[in-house]
Amino acid sequence: MALSPIEAKKLSQENLTQSDIDYFRDKYGKKFVRALRVVEEKKVSKYQFKPSDSTTWIVKGKSRQYLVIPQTYCTCRSFYQEVVISRESSMCYHLLAQQIAEIREQYETIASTDTARRKLYVDWRRTD
Ligand SMILES: [Zn+2]
Repeated sequence: MALSPIEAKKLSQENLTQSDIDYFRDKYGKKFVRALRVVEEKKVSKYQFKPSDSTTWIVKGKSRQYLVIPQTYCTCRSFYQEVVISRESSMCYHLLAQQIAEIREQYETIASTDTARRKLYVDWRRTD
């Protein structure tokens, strides 16, 4: 589920070449295009909670926010259906977007508290 070191290196360049874009499109299809778009639209956020120093990655979707555990899990429906149940793919575009955002350092960092985190998690952990 993780991008390879070569893929990470390609993505770390400031401007992606056309051949890099073609490579990722061939491998990840529409998911790559959607993931890159949400990164460019600054829809990936990293929450940092105090005092625990825990972090949570969030990707804003069309109608709600999805909690992403890097390279592991996403609360969206397509992760559940395509990755867990039918196993037709290894990740949803939110998981891909989180990796691209982290590599390219294109995400918003939001400082918050553990008290606020408990409330936020009620909504983030929904999987409907
Ligand atoms: Zn997802």
